[in-house]
Amino acid sequence: MAETLFSKIIDREIPADIIFEDDQCLAFRDINPQAPTHFLVIPKKPIAKLSDAEEADQALLGHLLLVASQVAKQEGLEDFRLNVNNGAGASQTVFHLHVHVLGGRSFSWPPG
Ligand code: 5GP
Repeated sequence: MAETLFSKIIDREIPADIIFEDDQCLAFRDINPQAPTHFLVIPKKPIAKLSDAEEADQALLGHLLLVASQVAKQEGLEDFRLNVNNGAGASQTVFHLHVHVLGGRSFSWPPG
């Protein structure tokens, strides 16, 4: 997988407001927040997009969701939205898998 901005954040080559880290993943605030709280949870393993994940990544994918929920709680969020853009046609711009976590405002459904 080609190196992305997010691998540079993992390697501390570019700065980010990191709010959680463990051996498998990192959470940091989005540089262009779409809600009062907007952070991204990314695996340290370089997976370009969700549809590139494999059976062997099952536990890692579950871990990303649990971390998203735990960090949301840590951020004081009770209600929040998770979003994963998969591919350019779904507005993915950074090709390193990431879960958006947004909160602090209300959200409509269905999304636009
Ligand atoms: P995507 O559209 O790929 O699902 O979302 C990529 C997200 O990464 C966007 O919300 C964008 O604001 C965020 N982003 C892009 N570059 C950077 C960066 O250098 N630092 C941080 N913290 N977020 C970034």
